[in-house]
Amino acid sequence: MFEQIAHFIGGELVAEGTPFPAYDPVTGKQIREVHVADRDVVDRAVRAARAAAPAWAALPMAERAAWMRRLADGIEARFDDLVDVEIADTGKPVEQTRTLDIPRGAANFRSFAEIAAQRPSNAFHLPGVLSYTVHRPLGVVAVVVPWNLPFLLMTWKLAPALVAGNTVVVKPSENTPGSAALLAEICREIGLPPGVVNIVYGYGATGGHLVEHPGIDGVTFTGSTRTGSTIMRAVADRVKPVSFELGGKNAALVFEDADLDKAVAGTLRSVFTNGGQVCLCTERVYVQRSIFDEFARRLAAGAGEVYRQPMISAEHRDKVLSYFDLAREEGGEFLTGGGAVAGESGYYVEPTIVTGLPESSRFNTEEIFGPVCHLRPFDPEDEAVELANSSQYGLAATVWTTGLGRAHRVAQRLEAGLVWVNTWYLRDLRTPFGGVKLSGIGREGGTQSLDFYSEPTTITMELT
Ligand code: NAD
Repeated sequence: MFEQIAHFIGGELVAEGTPFPAYDPVTGKQIREVHVADRDVVDRAVRAARAAAPAWAALPMAERAAWMRRLADGIEARFDDLVDVEIADTGKPVEQTRTLDIPRGAANFRSFAEIAAQRPSNAFHLPGVLSYTVHRPLGVVAVVVPWNLPFLLMTWKLAPALVAGNTVVVKPSENTPGSAALLAEICREIGLPPGVVNIVYGYGATGGHLVEHPGIDGVTFTGSTRTGSTIMRAVADRVKPVSFELGGKNAALVFEDADLDKAVAGTLRSVFTNGGQVCLCTERVYVQRSIFDEFARRLAAGAGEVYRQPMISAEHRDKVLSYFDLAREEGGEFLTGGGAVAGESGYYVEPTIVTGLPESSRFNTEEIFGPVCHLRPFDPEDEAVELANSSQYGLAATVWTTGLGRAHRVAQRLEAGLVWVNTWYLRDLRTPFGGVKLSGIGREGGTQSLDFYSEPTTITMELT
């Protein structure tokens, strides 16, 4: 499916621009040919979005919410196709794709239809004066997304942007164009007004043309911190709002009073899910000294059993392997893994656990984004918190303990946008999502998303 992918502009498919290949990471073989959107193609997409914006913004909220439900219905009608394209692009496990990634796409549209309908509106009465607030959409929003959860993250941004009355131009990752191409088909199938959703493909330069375009009123971006700061500079002169969900170097803290079976199983999930290619994955594991040896032995044994998902590209595999070389050079001890998977044509690396490196090692400070973690012992609780907070990132953290007081005490001291206690990766779509420090700016989720994708105007009226 989708051997050729064309841009989706003003409701039409536009096959323009130099073709580039997209590969199946399981086999390393080319599966699609996609077109690079140059500045001119991006310009046409932004113009299409601008042309569609006034009519879309003027629709009553209830009608936009109804469109969101039709998009969710359209996704469910093409469920099997979406699962197939997403797996072909990413090498994800079937189970995860069927139970999480694609259903979450439909759930994003349904949830934001509900959340928008229930959004409260403020009115304040002062003597002789009434002040109230209305929300207007930003206008045209640039949606730039990565490859690790392509459909889930794209819909996570599209749903609130659209229901708030914006039109959008989406730039999917060059590695994973398939589910976006299928979303374009779904938009056509349900008769979504042309120009409300536009999709352009290409590498970082295409994303650059999009965010720099003067017709863009805001940028929502999920991806690496480095790209986030490039985008911030690109929009600085025009002072456009940005919402950034960036990288992480997430810590897990395992206390001696933890339920060890649960902590081992949970840490295996949080390190190795999606081949470690989730921004929320754990890469630093701190374990209280009295249980360190047993935990390390059980974690290393469990790593041999985890699902092996390929890295997204040959380039990314090589980047992950370069961190293994670094750990070797710096005298790290490999408890398991440490190389590419022999005999595989796809982009596989072994699940890897390292210990014995200093905290200042790049292995412990930089996001690796692979099936890998570093283990280190700690003694008092304060030391664990200090180690977790020593990162320049602050996206997520996980605490494993059966102590109720400790759970709250530690969770509240961690410098992270999301903290899980005795679980991982569970989230209600209405809760704020995002990170502190280098992990991002702003929060999405629930009404936080609607706040980003709209501008309030306060109207104050004299009543006499
Ligand atoms: P990336 O930053 O390389 O690319 C993300 C997107 O930005 C792609 O579509 C890319 O083409 C585009 N892009 C690249 N350069 C650009 C530029 N100059 N201007 C505009 N767009 C540009 O990230 P990636 O490798 O695709 O994704 C992995 C990263 O995403 C990791 O750092 C991961 O932590 C992060 N991530 C964060 C979250 C979160 O919620 N915080 C979620 C998922 C992934």
